[in-house]
Amino acid sequence: MTKAIRIHEYGDADNMKWENVNVGAPGEGEVRVKHTAIGLNFIDIYQRTGLYDIGALPATLGMEGAGIIEEVGASVDGFVAGDRVAYAMELGAYSEARLMTTDRLVKIPAGIDDHTAAAMMLQGMTAQYLLKSSYPVQAGDTILIMAAAGGVGQILSQWAKYLGAKVIGCVGSEAKAELAKDAGCDHTILYNTEDVAQRVHDITGGAGVPVSYDSIGQATVQASLDSLMPAGFFISFGNASGPITDFNPGMLAMNGSLYMQRPTLATFTRNRELLNAVAGDLFDAVVSGAVSININQTYPLAETVQAHKDMESRSTTGSTILIP
Ligand code: NDP
Repeated sequence: MTKAIRIHEYGDADNMKWENVNVGAPGEGEVRVKHTAIGLNFIDIYQRTGLYDIGALPATLGMEGAGIIEEVGASVDGFVAGDRVAYAMELGAYSEARLMTTDRLVKIPAGIDDHTAAAMMLQGMTAQYLLKSSYPVQAGDTILIMAAAGGVGQILSQWAKYLGAKVIGCVGSEAKAELAKDAGCDHTILYNTEDVAQRVHDITGGAGVPVSYDSIGQATVQASLDSLMPAGFFISFGNASGPITDFNPGMLAMNGSLYMQRPTLATFTRNRELLNAVAGDLFDAVVSGAVSININQTYPLAETVQAHKDMESRSTTGSTILIP
């Protein structure tokens, strides 16, 4: 028997239960991974509440982990027992051990420890595709990042700075503004109390920014649109404040013939070639020191309820891991 954090119905954090599960032996094409660390992500909250449908319940939550392959099933190529591996976007990570196919697994390079790997795969690969594919940031760009002190936000800010951008980061408190500055933000805006678009136009001499990386959704859509320069990119990649439900494409016209993308990491890592490229670029950024993974919270896996409550109440900063 192993233990896992599962839900039997969608709802609040207390719906998650620490339960015995029978993992069993790997089937055809599968491996059994013993987790050493698990990443906490905001998508876990969307899946727990039912904003994102995860199919049949009960289900083990969690989309990111690191660990060691304990056992390999038939017809598995490229992975053997003893490999140190990590993954993102595969439901079932909140567990001491799990079965999974190898499609989303990558080997962890020697220069990266398991805790860092578990903290960085989902948030770091997201930052990678946002900065290199969704809107390819150019040196000299001044860009806007929402929730700049959060998990994705701190990685985005550091990496954008490394690429030569000037970074404006929106945050929820003065304390988070300091963290965002440490992560490379040149300017910070307290979006709960300040006029974001006004500040952005002041900072950019009236030009606006070519891109807003917006993970907040409902609460910030207008601020993002109003902050963009003509033909700028509104990259709406999350819904921390709730989903955008009433979007009229005419708003893109009115704010200067803007582009909008609603991306997901799954698209940008949809096959082995893309996954290796995105993960490889992230590993290089971390091993070289261009990006640091700031693990600011660590909880026992059994205390995932508290971890969710803290993330939901905006008390976490940087990355968070759960230890089985
Ligand atoms: P974070 O660590 O960034 O936590 C979310 C942050 O959002 C909070 O700390 C808070 O920062 C801010 N926030 C603003 N309004 C609210 C609200 N009403 N309730 C809660 N938080 C709020 O989480 P992650 O780094 O895990 O994820 C960041 C975002 O990126 C999420 O929206 C997530 O869904 C999205 N994402 C999207 C992916 C994709 O491919 N599309 C992949 C990965 C993440 P503050 O107090 O500073 O406002």
